[in-house]
Amino acid sequence: EAKGGNNFIRNMIAEQIERGEHSGEVVTRFPPEPNGYLHIGHAKSICLNFGLAEYFGGRCRLRFDDTNPEKENQEYIDSIQADVRWLGFEWDGEVRFTSEYFETLHGYALYLIENGDAYVDELSSAQAREYRGDWNTPGTDSPFRNRSVADNLAAFEKMRAGGFAEGEAALRAKIDMAAGNMNLRDPIIYRIRHAAHHQTGSTWCIYPSYDFAHGQSDALEGVTHSICTLEFEDHRPLYNWFLEHLPVPCRPVQTEFGRLNLNYTITSKRKLKRLVDEDIVDGWDDPRMPTLAGIRRRGYTPASIRNFCDTIGVSRGDGVVDATVLENAVREDLNDNAARAMCVMDPLKLVITNYPEDAVETLSAAGHPNRDDLPGRSLPFTREVFIEKEDFREEANKKYKRLVLGKRVRLRNAYVIEATDVVKDDRGEIVEVHCTYDPDTLGNNPADGVKPKGVIHWVSASQGKRALVRQYDRLFAVENPGRGDDVLDNLNPVSLQVFAGCWIEPDLATVEPETRVQFERIGYFVADRYDHAPGAPVFNRIVPLRDTWAK
Ligand code: ATP
Ligand code: MG
Ligand code: MG
Repeated sequence: EAKGGNNFIRNMIAEQIERGEHSGEVVTRFPPEPNGYLHIGHAKSICLNFGLAEYFGGRCRLRFDDTNPEKENQEYIDSIQADVRWLGFEWDGEVRFTSEYFETLHGYALYLIENGDAYVDELSSAQAREYRGDWNTPGTDSPFRNRSVADNLAAFEKMRAGGFAEGEAALRAKIDMAAGNMNLRDPIIYRIRHAAHHQTGSTWCIYPSYDFAHGQSDALEGVTHSICTLEFEDHRPLYNWFLEHLPVPCRPVQTEFGRLNLNYTITSKRKLKRLVDEDIVDGWDDPRMPTLAGIRRRGYTPASIRNFCDTIGVSRGDGVVDATVLENAVREDLNDNAARAMCVMDPLKLVITNYPEDAVETLSAAGHPNRDDLPGRSLPFTREVFIEKEDFREEANKKYKRLVLGKRVRLRNAYVIEATDVVKDDRGEIVEVHCTYDPDTLGNNPADGVKPKGVIHWVSASQGKRALVRQYDRLFAVENPGRGDDVLDNLNPVSLQVFAGCWIEPDLATVEPETRVQFERIGYFVADRYDHAPGAPVFNRIVPLRDTWAK
């Protein structure tokens, strides 16, 4: 059951049921156009539509709104289904396509023509634009508006049979060229596209408009609540006009809600497609992309996306959500659920001079600080280990709680050590730190009472595994990257840093792809869905431990 952020649509339906205005099932649908991958904005719509069906014990369908054959393809159809399932939802029955209703919709178009409610307009698109007027100028009737029914039937048949070129004719609903709402000024019902369709092949060269197809498809599927984003508010009178003028089996009701906008993010398939087409990113599922496939590969959990959608709620207005809200959602989930591990990203060798040369000792560590159900870890400890370069300084002030020459730290889950010496190369760079360890400090402080200054992570040099770690950051550097037309102007120049020489605990090399872990002291990481392999571990940074973008 939904945790229930603010959701006015759920409240609205509950009231309808209470007042007896709605009996029977609640039927919703998620209606993507298969012209790109789903993004985080779609997650809001998915959670809302499937969430309502779940809450009211009804059904939610998945319907591909496939009325623009040139922009659509099977890859998108497949990815959309996979993404909906990944989020944790299953649609009712078979996947539906608006194209399954093309025959019925064509019949509805004939029905309108026969009733004098539609006509074939042969104005050019430039002329049609002129006749349409604008928001403060009434439109003018097309000279084709009063053709006879017989004429219209013949012209529409000619359209269907391929007798016109694209743009030479269109079927329009005959509503009101002076309507204040531009959507009612004789909107197009059918237009000509000499293009094959991924579902219907070359059966059709005329395709219904979104407005004509959508409501009728809802009605044909028994949808009771047709939920869409605010930009369709002005289309609602048209949605209703069609339902009133056609012999549809039921009367769905459209309700609009505010789109999800996230700052530092783009939620437009068209603009995201540009990033893919121009090779700015490594495909639709690049871990920096706000697509669900990208977010998945980045390591976000489905639960964190669902929680995020609950947190932001559903309201009637548009707003912009801070990207940190999404980042915090996954951080919260992983803090509770991700196993802990150690990874050294920028290695410096530490030699423990009083530790036996070839010994390998197996230490143990908790899988998670407060989750006894997660398995513990075995950590091989050896004379040589790697630590982070930034965890050692020859000298430092008191604020530096890491390893300093002549001082002590604890190696996490292991012993207390004291740095004694450094080895430098000819350029003066430190290449090794030498230290001694105190064998009595496993779980105890040193007997002499001199406490370590801090705790640092490490990985055995001989037993650890090399890994490649990709440190991802936000793709865009500005709050509103979608504003200007050129999304490419707003890219974050360092949205990806590759660390090829990292060292990880040996057991991490063999985890399954998509396993999420916290690299202690660094952040949350995921074994890459595609590139991670036992011989060549690859991890992606999901988010750092703390929000580093705080203003
Ligand atoms: P885009 O502009 O990215 O192409 P769209 O609205 O054209 O988005 P559709 O495939 O038609 O994409 O969307 C399917 C459903 O998802 C629609 O009901 C749409 O309203 C909803 N949706 C799309 N983007 C968002 C968003 N940012 N927030 C909430 N819902 C969204
Ligand atoms: Mg759309
Ligand atoms: Mg679109």
